[in-house]
Amino acid sequence: MTTFMGCIADDFTGASDLAGLLARSGVRVSLRIGVPDEPPRETAAFEVIALKIRTSPVDEAIAQARAALTWLQAAGAQRFFWKYCSTFDSTPTGNIGPVAEALMQDLQTDQTIYCPAFPENGRSIFMGNLFVGEQLLSESPMKDHPLTPMRDANLMRLLVPQVSRPVGLANRLTVAKGAAALSERLAELAAEGVAHVVVDAVSDDDLPIIADACRDMPLMTGGSAVAMPLPDLYIANGTLSADAVRATPPVLEGKSILLSGSCSAMTRAQVATYAATGAPTCRLDPLELAASGPEAAQAWLADQDLSKAPLIYATAEPDMVRIAQDKLGVAAAGEIVEQALAACARAALDQGARRFVVAGGETSGAVTQALDVTQLDIGVEIAPGVPWTYCVTGGTQIALTLKSGNFGAQTFFNDALSAL
Ligand code: ADP
Repeated sequence: MTTFMGCIADDFTGASDLAGLLARSGVRVSLRIGVPDEPPRETAAFEVIALKIRTSPVDEAIAQARAALTWLQAAGAQRFFWKYCSTFDSTPTGNIGPVAEALMQDLQTDQTIYCPAFPENGRSIFMGNLFVGEQLLSESPMKDHPLTPMRDANLMRLLVPQVSRPVGLANRLTVAKGAAALSERLAELAAEGVAHVVVDAVSDDDLPIIADACRDMPLMTGGSAVAMPLPDLYIANGTLSADAVRATPPVLEGKSILLSGSCSAMTRAQVATYAATGAPTCRLDPLELAASGPEAAQAWLADQDLSKAPLIYATAEPDMVRIAQDKLGVAAAGEIVEQALAACARAALDQGARRFVVAGGETSGAVTQALDVTQLDIGVEIAPGVPWTYCVTGGTQIALTLKSGNFGAQTFFNDALSAL
């Protein structure tokens, strides 16, 4: 099928979040890890390309985004979405504005919107200022982010140094009046030469209004939430064929493996909850892995009945993580764990596992690489922003779910298994 909309995401779990929300409508959504080497064949109505450019040098980010755009255009896409984090994650030297401006140039369009709001997750924008829950972004924990410390909550002020053309605002009072009023405001700003328009959104109800007013823009930019209403709008007005629905998922054997390399508070609770159900579990210790490799874990795995969905985890409390990092170095400790979990994923595949549940953003990257997976079809959603996906590895069909640290409920592992 010809692709209708092409999406470019600045990181992997953000791409999966967007793909999951678009797929809520039932349309076929495909996620690619990086720009495919091959020209497009058999593409989905909505294609999402996951890049890893949030903190790359600007030139590199632009080059990759342009390559993604070219591939998506070759797939037939006419409309495009540039997806970034709902906490903006872009300092005055960041890539959000420069990439948007490069894409606008390639698409020969004079205006786009910026709407990172995700009210369901507590991200809202009022008078151009981004809030995390009740706090301004610049007063939220994001002010201390190690890579993108957000010291200003005003999206216009953040964008101005990133772009060459004028920045403006369509505020909540306009959005509250509906799609026609917002379209009118955008046209007014366009007449004044305003290329980059921050659009306020404080509640879920604002999102369909914004999507409706902007759905015919060649390029929209924002978080995943403002894109969510688009498929239904395109189907309702007949621009997207109603048969763009996703295929019935393949029936896969019940043999499963759960792999967790995330140490976030939520993942720790999820691992404890799963272990408490009496499921088979094996804990990886980075210091033991550094001394004697992943063989012990693999020997444990070889003895398991995969229909009982064993869990292998390195997930640990912060003090344990610190001990490993002090002895091995932060990067080396992470790498040893990621490689061990990736090796276990491969071994489980050889043992017949067909359902893979992976917790952790970096961990997900290592596992998808080990399984040599580059394209995923989005299936049912397990938790907001965490869908099951279907993909092929070495000719074998598998189901895979990739959860970023803080996503999912405490019962996530069982939720995932019972969702298939
Ligand atoms: P999240 O999505 O929660 O950020 P990631 O997988 O992206 O999870 O990051 C977790 C990182 O911590 C990975 O690099 C992983 O290998 C590393 N890690 C996991 N367990 C441990 C541990 N016990 N000690 C040190 N590092 C660990």
